[in-house]
Amino acid sequence: MTNIKTSWNLVNTYAGLPDFFYSKLNLSKVRSPQLVALNENLAQDLGLNTDELKSREGVEILSGNALPQGSIPIALAYAGHQFGYFTMLGDGRAMLLGEQVTPGGIYDIQLKGSGITPYSRGGDGRAALGPMLREYIVSEAMHNLRIPTTRSLAVVTTGEYVIRDKILKGAVLTRTASSHIRVGTFEYAAYFGTRENVRQLADYTIERHFRDLAREADKYLHFLKEVVKRQASLIAKWQLTGFVHGVMNTDNMAISGETIDYGPCAFMDAYNPDIVYSSIDTYGRYAYKNQPKIGLWNLSRFAETLLPLINENRDKAVQLAQDAVNEFNPLYHKNLMSGMRSKLGIFNEEAADEELIGELLNIMQKNNEDYTNIFLKLTFGDPIAAEAGEFKEWHKKWQARLQRQAQTKEEVFELMKNSNPAVIPRNHRVEEALRAADEEGDYSVMNNLINVLSKPFAHTPDQKEYEDLPPPSFCNYKTFCGT
Ligand code: AMP
Ligand code: MG
Repeated sequence: MTNIKTSWNLVNTYAGLPDFFYSKLNLSKVRSPQLVALNENLAQDLGLNTDELKSREGVEILSGNALPQGSIPIALAYAGHQFGYFTMLGDGRAMLLGEQVTPGGIYDIQLKGSGITPYSRGGDGRAALGPMLREYIVSEAMHNLRIPTTRSLAVVTTGEYVIRDKILKGAVLTRTASSHIRVGTFEYAAYFGTRENVRQLADYTIERHFRDLAREADKYLHFLKEVVKRQASLIAKWQLTGFVHGVMNTDNMAISGETIDYGPCAFMDAYNPDIVYSSIDTYGRYAYKNQPKIGLWNLSRFAETLLPLINENRDKAVQLAQDAVNEFNPLYHKNLMSGMRSKLGIFNEEAADEELIGELLNIMQKNNEDYTNIFLKLTFGDPIAAEAGEFKEWHKKWQARLQRQAQTKEEVFELMKNSNPAVIPRNHRVEEALRAADEEGDYSVMNNLINVLSKPFAHTPDQKEYEDLPPPSFCNYKTFCGT
């Protein structure tokens, strides 16, 4: 390959782990890459020059046809519990180029859809345009909703086709993440490696994400507690925003506490705790209401992998780990309540707040009300929320509750505006954008959507039309993963 002088500033710390943890890759080239989406803000944050990324050499890199300076391309090994069943997985269609060094830390630069790896298990290593654009739109929306997430730097089409149930355009997504270490990476080390491998991975992860713990006496137990804390925060944020991840397998839970894997995810419209979007989630394991429970289940799998590091005495280790994991529920609940109070403009705490919140959710569910829009109506004093049916009594209680705090009306309004998004990536809007891009090569719908989603708490007039609900034909919306 040509040696391109670039703003890439890569290190390869993961490749410094024993090769048990990854496989080195060769490039598998695509026919005619074309850049169709570039996240200029993210590029800037990463210290990457956007002109360079748009250049022919830049696009060759973003498609996996050429390597940026300093790259050692690897596929990461991991395992995972998928729908409760343990299996070997690994990057079957992804390639870690390296970690970009920025003033704020190092970020994985990973290509997704870049070709076959030793972990492809019969798959083609490729990705289709629709799902890669979907990840691009939704992960950026999540970031702007202030929910920790992997991010999307670019999407290129490959000029090749991938065969699924239909023939689809091929594409490569460049994903960035504070790391791609998953619960499943620890499971891989624990099931297929040695105690020493688990220790190597834990030490690497602590160094990368929890540096303050490195000198603690019980650092592995503290590490577990920190991971529990981050998930309790993340999943509360999902619930508060109506986000349904859809495939919370342990390989899709990042140790960093970022949302990862945008396969079958969706945002709910009408409030319905039982909602499931994924076409393969027959029993609703990953329904909206189950997300905290599954978070806890996954953390238990994670804790098991750390037992030999936590204490030499197995019983003692189990007890300590169990206590750490048991912190999830109270932490989650605290985060959820605190977020809900903010959504309702409540600054102080009262014991009865939980009841007030629960009543609102019940009324929403019974009346099939839109989750996002109800909070907007409450924020902006829309009379529909105040006067209609069951809302009336509740609204009185809520108003009385707001009287029992020192803050002014203006302060309440500001808190609510800042806690209730004007827009979320509603499924019908995302589908509409994908259809225009994929079928007609028209990226304007997608770009408008991305633009409007970039400041969800701005409450600007151009966001108003994105509050509209999907047509009734969309009520049975299903998502598909592994695409
Ligand atoms: P996911 O559903 O994206 O979490 O993927 C689950 C596993 O399947 C991971 O090990 C992926 O790398 C792998 N995988 C998904 N799609 C493909 C593909 N087209 N080719 C090879 N492996 C794949
Ligand atoms: Mg995955």
